Amino acid sequence: MSQTSPWMDDELETFRDTVARFVETEMVPNDARWRAQHHVDREIWKRMGEMGFLCLDIPDRYGGVGGDFRHEAVVYEELCRRGISGFANGVHSICANYVLNHGTEEQKHRWLPRLASGDLIGAIAMTEPAAGSDLRGVRTRAVREGEVYRINGSKIFITNGSLATLLMLLVKTDAEARKGGMSLIMVETEGLAGYRVGRVLDKMGMQAQDTAELFFDDVRVPADCLLGGAEGHGMHQMMADLPYERLIVALAAVAAMEGGLEATLAYTRGRKAFGQAIAEFQNTKFKLAELATVVKIARVFIDDCIAKRLQGTFDTTTAAMAKWWLTDTQQKVLDECVQLHGGYGYMNEYLVCRMFADSRVQRIYGGTNEIMKELISRALG
Ligand SMILES: Cc1cc2nc3c(=O)[nH]c(=O)nc-3n(C[C@H](O)[C@H](O)[C@H](O)COP(=O)(O)OP(=O)(O)OC[C@H]3O[C@@H](n4cnc5c(N)ncnc54)[C@H](O)[C@@H]3O)c2cc1C
Repeated sequence: MSQTSPWMDDELETFRDTVARFVETEMVPNDARWRAQHHVDREIWKRMGEMGFLCLDIPDRYGGVGGDFRHEAVVYEELCRRGISGFANGVHSICANYVLNHGTEEQKHRWLPRLASGDLIGAIAMTEPAAGSDLRGVRTRAVREGEVYRINGSKIFITNGSLATLLMLLVKTDAEARKGGMSLIMVETEGLAGYRVGRVLDKMGMQAQDTAELFFDDVRVPADCLLGGAEGHGMHQMMADLPYERLIVALAAVAAMEGGLEATLAYTRGRKAFGQAIAEFQNTKFKLAELATVVKIARVFIDDCIAKRLQGTFDTTTAAMAKWWLTDTQQKVLDECVQLHGGYGYMNEYLVCRMFADSRVQRIYGGTNEIMKELISRALG
């Protein structure tokens, strides 16, 4: 039933097998423990780096694997169809791509090899208590003082927050500017005076993700950590890279739907009621037929997005469409999967239960789905 994406080839099939084996042996058995402790083990980042599974679309001259988005896609798919939502390599790759796209040559050599090896764990720190959808409200302030920036402020809801050792931090560098005045500063956090990780937040789902608050109290970072080397480009840099982030969120949605549907097919074939497998009831058959159709449409859509990304034509509007529609659809599909599992679908030990709870936030982060529709409507003219 599942279809092979047009962007797959023999090399990627072999790579997929290796990734799948790794996820099955080194991640799936640890997921319950990671969820209970609300973070993955730091060592898994190093293991992923050693395996060559990080920064796959970063050129090898910067220490990356030198592949392209297809390689990244394989890793997201193998994680997401198994419900491994705590290992936030998407955020890590987004961080690396910002450095690749906007960093100076020296900055690329400074950070990308260590992100690729897993020696650094990346996070993107934009959201603040008073600034989420409207990031112009960011209050975290960076003031240039000779050869350093002095940073004061706080961030909230930061994925990889407690483990991260490299933050891509959105700050105000020009407090007077009514529009703009924002910059991105790369902050290495290890042993950094004035930097503090606050609470790891108690969430509805994604229990293994260490979503955290971060505090900056007279933190000083070298001035050459300003991404790209010139102040005031933060908003422009973000606008350029958000489609990449939204593609990853959308792809995660499709992979989770595929994994959830597969688990539901197996479950309904094995579970009996009224003397027959529940998969044999006409309602179940029709529901499964509907789900299979929707998931196929989702797959065709995401494959088109991936093709456009590979051609360099993946635009902001299509990214917004993919993000809102695929994450909304993900939640509807997983809701049906839970229903077809009956009471077991409400139990955390079942994949569809964890996937359903994890899916809710997909409609919120990466730009809420309402903001996606705003962007699309603007493009309609
Ligand atoms: C688990 C999790 C992980 C996250 N990870 C990160 C991370 O790694 N880095 C990071 O920087 N942030 C992260 N976020 C933050 C996330 O991106 C924000 O929560 C999101 O952008 C929404 O901002 P907000 O929560 O302030 O909601 P608000 O902006 O206050 O929005 C509240 C509601 O109002 C709606 N709304 C707002 N503006 C409009 C409008 N113009 N038109 C219509 N409706 C509107 C929104 O759609 C939403 O429904 C994460 C959040 C969660 C929950």
